[in-house]
Amino acid sequence: MACLGLGFLSRAVSAPSPLEVDSNFEGASVSSVEIDEKTRSILFTPGGDPSRGWPCWWYFKINGVQPGEVITLHLKGSSATTTHPGGALSKPLSPVWAMPERATFSHDGVLWQHSEKGARENDVMHYTLRPATGSVYVAWGPPYTPGFAAKAIEATCKDHAGAKAGELCRSVGGRPVPMWQVSEGERPAAKRFGIWVQARQHAWESGSSWVAQGFAEWLLGDSEQAKWIRTHAEVFIVPVMDVDNVATGNGGKEALPHDHNRDWSEIPHWNETAAAMTRVKNLTAQARLDVFLDLHNPGPGDPTFFFLSDPSLMGPEAQQRNNRFIELAYKQISTAKPFIPMSNKPKYTGPNYHPRWKEMSANWVTKNGNPHTVGLCLETIWNAASGTTEGYRTVGSRLGLALEEYLREQQPRD
Ligand SMILES: [Zn+2]
Repeated sequence: MACLGLGFLSRAVSAPSPLEVDSNFEGASVSSVEIDEKTRSILFTPGGDPSRGWPCWWYFKINGVQPGEVITLHLKGSSATTTHPGGALSKPLSPVWAMPERATFSHDGVLWQHSEKGARENDVMHYTLRPATGSVYVAWGPPYTPGFAAKAIEATCKDHAGAKAGELCRSVGGRPVPMWQVSEGERPAAKRFGIWVQARQHAWESGSSWVAQGFAEWLLGDSEQAKWIRTHAEVFIVPVMDVDNVATGNGGKEALPHDHNRDWSEIPHWNETAAAMTRVKNLTAQARLDVFLDLHNPGPGDPTFFFLSDPSLMGPEAQQRNNRFIELAYKQISTAKPFIPMSNKPKYTGPNYHPRWKEMSANWVTKNGNPHTVGLCLETIWNAASGTTEGYRTVGSRLGLALEEYLREQQPRD
């Protein structure tokens, strides 16, 4: 009898508390939330102001979870549009951009994992989760915010003789744009290879920041190859370019009047673009813009990592060097363990890709850099088992190995 009573009591105590959606933190985005307590499910769409880019990014925290219970997410695409004539969002964005095969979740906001594969029914994607704790973060992909970037940069540069936590500029919104500046030893700057790596000109493309993070961690690590780069090159890494849209959970891509990666022009609109262009022009003026990498995410159906470039803007030397870099990066990334799908066939941009194709950063660099400049965009896939922070970091470290091999083949600077 006593046992029955206790059982009853424990059931009463453990009755689930109501689910709650919290989006009051950096990078969060969610809209049109409907919570169904009976089925313990949450219907939602991505948030985001469509004038600030594709509304495909979502990221929020669920409180009130009974540890071990099943929570179901029902995700619908955003119906937000802009009235900008001829603009990208005069019609709602295709929902496929908001619907990765697997959602990403975390119990602590630090360690990110994939959910099981979601199931799509008509215009709704369903993901199920069984959180082990009372609250859980859920997101389109592993989040990487300006605040996280600043802390990561600070932590890795602390006590490192060859690395400095720098600031590219302040954004239109007044936010600092943190960066790694890496240069070790006494070699004068003029005798160093110039390397520029940047991610997140499109705010929703979070995987690209994790590739940058992996590259930076590798570069500041103990390997002989990393040390060789640190002592022979000056390396700049900006893991989040569009800090305002990343911090506010906006998509960034096709933001008005145009996004960061359509802004590399005579009169840049965004502070980050203007500041990056100034630094890149300096390296070019010193004939040492050796490698420029712009990191992005491609479409939902792309099965492999791949490079995007435009040989029509390159002289013969640049063509040969870009091809060589692609070959080395392919060799390194495609042999990583666990397996990372990588293509050795770059895709090309050109006027059919976008009317402002020459204002895309890698193309601008190709056209305005040195005759030997490698200027490439790397596309980071997001519908693959390897689309995790670990998989993305591995790609970053493999890029580092490819870079070392590539630079060793070049004329030394002294
Ligand atoms: Zn992009």
